[in-house]
Amino acid sequence: MSEFDLVILGGGSGGYACALRAAQLGLSVALVEEDKLGGTCLHRGCIPTKALLHAGEVADSARHASDFGVNAQFISIDMLAVNAYKDGVISKLHKGLQGLVKSRNITYIEGHGRLVGKNVIEVNGAQYTGKNIVLATGSYPKTLPGLDIDGVQIVTSEQAMKFEKVPASVIVLGGGVIGCEFASVWKSFGAEVTIIEALPHLVALEDESTSKQLERAYRKRGINFELGTRFASAVRNESGVTVTLENGATFTAEVLLVAVGRGPVSANLGYEEAGITLDRGYILVDDKCRTNVPGIWAVGDLIPTLQLAHVGFAEGILVAEEIAGLNPRPINYDGVPRVTYSEPEVASVGLTTAQAKERGYDVVELSYDLAGNGKANILKTAGSVKLVGQKDGPVLGVHMVGDRVGELISEAQLIFNWEAEASDVAALIHAHPTLSEALGEAHLALAGKPLHAHG
Ligand SMILES: Cc1cc2nc3c(=O)[nH]c(=O)nc-3n(C[C@H](O)[C@H](O)[C@H](O)COP(=O)(O)OP(=O)(O)OC[C@H]3O[C@@H](n4cnc5c(N)ncnc54)[C@H](O)[C@@H]3O)c2cc1C
Repeated sequence: MSEFDLVILGGGSGGYACALRAAQLGLSVALVEEDKLGGTCLHRGCIPTKALLHAGEVADSARHASDFGVNAQFISIDMLAVNAYKDGVISKLHKGLQGLVKSRNITYIEGHGRLVGKNVIEVNGAQYTGKNIVLATGSYPKTLPGLDIDGVQIVTSEQAMKFEKVPASVIVLGGGVIGCEFASVWKSFGAEVTIIEALPHLVALEDESTSKQLERAYRKRGINFELGTRFASAVRNESGVTVTLENGATFTAEVLLVAVGRGPVSANLGYEEAGITLDRGYILVDDKCRTNVPGIWAVGDLIPTLQLAHVGFAEGILVAEEIAGLNPRPINYDGVPRVTYSEPEVASVGLTTAQAKERGYDVVELSYDLAGNGKANILKTAGSVKLVGQKDGPVLGVHMVGDRVGELISEAQLIFNWEAEASDVAALIHAHPTLSEALGEAHLALAGKPLHAHG
């Protein structure tokens, strides 16, 4: 039997970040992975989807080149070449990550692992003991009753990112982040797209004003959507899939993408047997990612926090530092930046107006339209920067819509997490002409001294 300070089950964002940081802190680490190091984010999530979205952006640039006086023509999408580009990005990052794990002297164990005691993980018949066990087995794409995923006509995001041709038409079931990103890609690639969402809005976790702007932009792009109606059934036939909603409406398309959320990978892994408390499959943890069983920790999509790669990184680092005795500060989940990489992009941090009111803040709001921003005009993008603030207090939330606003989230998260007031940010100079000026202008206006703003 081999003994380590930490044995980590799952080599995705949460697991490998924990392994890298723990090793850096001088702890002995074993990392167990049954598939590929890097997990969902690198192989089936963040990276491949963003490569597809970038290819879509290039296609749209070609389509709209004449708007900028450039003679170019969009001809078609070569999915084999798109996939080669996407897989090239993944492969390079995968190799880099493998090298990093090796260089930190982490014991990498390939195979399916299972918790077989409070401090033992078994892989291929061999047992690995850890003074600490970190569970990081991630998540899988959920489906709905009556939906039979066949991988061809009815698919998950994982299958959708491997298509070898662009479908003529697609129904996207679920208007959350993943659904909206795929809808955006496929529209850019030339497909007819319809999103079906049971909630009243697309990206319904965002501020309502953000959802409305995205809906307006999607309508303008010709992306169809049905909001506030629930899925009833899907029937496959030779030409595609017919989806019926509870209100009786029907839609037919070549492909149905099921993007109704992701559930935790926690079944049959020995978690319950070890006495770990779970809720609907998620492992419950305290603010340091400790489970109820001493010495067992859990991070990433397996616990009921935001399902984002950078949340997994942060939780993995937190656990490693706690085990090493550094007593790190717990994560403030309100301060996690959130980006939907659609066209246009959506980016936010902090509280929505509704959340701020619910928490009893005396709320002030300010919306700065990108129409007043030079760079946004150069890019021909529309959108806004909305601030939610506490009256005579700090900025409580920043909500942005528009091309490339994802890149502005780094400043927005500093503003929120450092509890800046509008007047603090108004004193900072933003380079001209950049989109970041819109953030500056919004804070100038909220501080009572608007510059390029009417009224
Ligand atoms: C389509 C899509 C797009 C996304 N885009 C973004 C984005 O743009 N930005 C963002 O921040 N997040 C994005 N995410 C979310 C992000 O991918 C996840 O939040 C992140 O990967 C979670 O990390 P994790 O370590 O918890 O789990 P995972 O990355 O799922 O890793 C878990 C690992 O554990 C392994 N494993 C499971 N069980 C066992 C076992 N018994 N034995 C051995 N190994 C096991 C799995 O093989 C896997 O490698 C996206 C997700 C999807 C699906």
